[in-house]
Amino acid sequence: MSIELMLFQAGAVDIVKRSFHPWLPEAEGSEMFRQPVWSALIKTPEGNILFDTGLHPVHVARPDATFGPLKDMTVVMRDEDAIVRRLEAAGVAPDDVQIVVNSHLHFDHAGNNGAFPRATFIVQADHLVSAKGRQSFPGVYWDLPELTYLPVSGRTRVAKGVEVVPTPGHAVGHQSLVLDLPETGRVVLCGDAANTRANLERGEEPALAPDDAKASLALIRSLVNDDLDRCFPSHDMAAWRSWRHAPEVYR
Ligand SMILES: [Zn+2]
Repeated sequence: MSIELMLFQAGAVDIVKRSFHPWLPEAEGSEMFRQPVWSALIKTPEGNILFDTGLHPVHVARPDATFGPLKDMTVVMRDEDAIVRRLEAAGVAPDDVQIVVNSHLHFDHAGNNGAFPRATFIVQADHLVSAKGRQSFPGVYWDLPELTYLPVSGRTRVAKGVEVVPTPGHAVGHQSLVLDLPETGRVVLCGDAANTRANLERGEEPALAPDDAKASLALIRSLVNDDLDRCFPSHDMAAWRSWRHAPEVYR
């Protein structure tokens, strides 16, 4: 068996456009748009790898469960968006996941870490340190005693054809996942290093560390020789609609 990539929607957010596209004029930038939250399953001969764990299903009934009501962002989630339900529909139980790679530990990327107590979680060491105890990385979803974190530093092989690559800027120690698929070739699961394709095109991403974010976008582009169709940004509905979704796969 060689590597297969499967994509699952794991919720959505209504978010103010300027959060992703700060270059928009004021009026348009203040509008909201709906963007997906997603997770990916990578089946490999060395085990199943999950990239990000999506939003926790507590948000189905209570969209503001994590941060209370916010002006700039609202979670939109259906029962079937829970990653455990999505995996189940694809015939994969939580205990069948050996490794979880979190791009970072924001609540829309680590919301269901607690559902995978048998997995090893791969996170950049500096990210773990910077996320711990911070209100913007709610520990209720990831800082759980039963979970096993494997802090890594820098580019790290996860399995044959699967490598994490640091792409800081959105957060300290943010990482993306690079896959070398046998038929499709290389793709990059960007995480929030690239929220949308437009961010990759402009080489610009709103971030606490804008220079790091810029360098990370350039790195992602260099990894795919500027073929942006090979980049999977984290929150881009138009891009999402153009991709294959589970149970379809990329080989
Ligand atoms: Zn995100």
